[in-house]
Amino acid sequence: MSAGARPARVAMVSVHTSPLAQPGVGDAGGMNVYVLEVSRHLARMGTAVDVFTRTTTASQPEVVEVEPGVVVRYVPAGPYEGLSKEDLPGQLCAFAAGMMRVAAHAPPGYYDLVHSHYWLSGQVGWLAADRWAVPLVHTMHTMARVKNLHLADGDEPEPRGREIGEAQVVEAADRLVANTAREASELVDLYDADPARVAVVEPGVDLTTFAPGSQAAARALLGVPADAVLLLFVGRIQPLKGPDVLVRAAAELVRRHPGLRDRLVVGVLGGASGSGARTPMGLDDLAARLGIAENVRFVPPVDRPTLAQWYRAADVLAVPSHSESFGLVAVEAQACGTPVVAADVGGLPIAVGEAGLLVDGHDTADWATALGRLVLDPALRGTLARRAVEHAQGYGWAHTAQRLLDVYGEALSRPKDVSIHEAPRLTGIPTAVIP
Ligand code: UDP
Repeated sequence: MSAGARPARVAMVSVHTSPLAQPGVGDAGGMNVYVLEVSRHLARMGTAVDVFTRTTTASQPEVVEVEPGVVVRYVPAGPYEGLSKEDLPGQLCAFAAGMMRVAAHAPPGYYDLVHSHYWLSGQVGWLAADRWAVPLVHTMHTMARVKNLHLADGDEPEPRGREIGEAQVVEAADRLVANTAREASELVDLYDADPARVAVVEPGVDLTTFAPGSQAAARALLGVPADAVLLLFVGRIQPLKGPDVLVRAAAELVRRHPGLRDRLVVGVLGGASGSGARTPMGLDDLAARLGIAENVRFVPPVDRPTLAQWYRAADVLAVPSHSESFGLVAVEAQACGTPVVAADVGGLPIAVGEAGLLVDGHDTADWATALGRLVLDPALRGTLARRAVEHAQGYGWAHTAQRLLDVYGEALSRPKDVSIHEAPRLTGIPTAVIP
């Protein structure tokens, strides 16, 4: 294929979580949304996508057509249920074998390119791209070395095996896709990636689902009192996401402004994940200890239209993560006209732009001050809400997909190193050793 070539079909690899899983709980989050949205938009632009993911229930069919040009292929690899992400390195051979079988039944050259997501998929994608002699494009989503630099209390460091596996994928990939310039630098500085092979492609937001709307109507729908001050957290509940930072700051806010006690609602929307799954009631206990148990409302994960209503209902979205590759929730809330207070980490300064407040660190007093500024100042809230909507208009999945096509074109224009396909000569191996 020539420079600027467009792949007819991409094998998208997402081993550990299906793009059709409910995001916001367990291992399903932004990556699922990303894979699904870019696959849909690539297909609409003429590049078909097969997403390979691991079978996790007996009822999953082998193939699901999501829309014309997008299929999800479920690949059995190990027991369907009961395996955690940490168990999956042991299933990568089985998964790769399943992918090879699919390709063996397809016409030669069926896939023009492999795009893998997260290091587990990168390991499988590396093999598939080699076997099919096509480029490997890889997106890390999160990186062990970055995570380990920003661990929250209660979080365990990522294992060395993951770091090694990631470094291998970085070396093997023809192109690495980073969400932000900061992530691109981390790939170069922490993983020794070749800068010429790293491309920055910002994720998007579905601006149709996530759009401004009536706060009063959203509150009526969700059962949030009309006069409430609603501080919202959205995401998987785990220490790395820092939901405890919001609970502590909310308690401090009530201490500073006792008048808020009866009106403050802290919405914690999402399900347990990772090490947060071991102490799902931890936040509950914390809120009780801080005397605001009555103010905290836990909401299980919801579909995207309902999530948009939660953003509209909220006065502020808090994103107190300790590490965040991008932070889709920040852009989604802003697209709904809800100002964001976010930790100044990872991709969040980009996701928030000039439209929200950034807090350096996770100190309770600092977070209470930042949240208080917005809660107590409707004029500032209004200004930031307008800016938030404007800022979010810069993000759209069609744009992300178009940028990915550019990156695919660059990868396809570079001749693949196909040395592995030149049959190794077995000369030098003694053939007559058996008497
Ligand atoms: N999400 C959702 N329903 C929920 C909670 C979260 O659809 O109940 C989605 C949310 O809209 C966002 C994604 O999960 O698109 C989380 O992505 P983010 O980048 O914020 O965090 P990640 O999961 O990648 O760490």
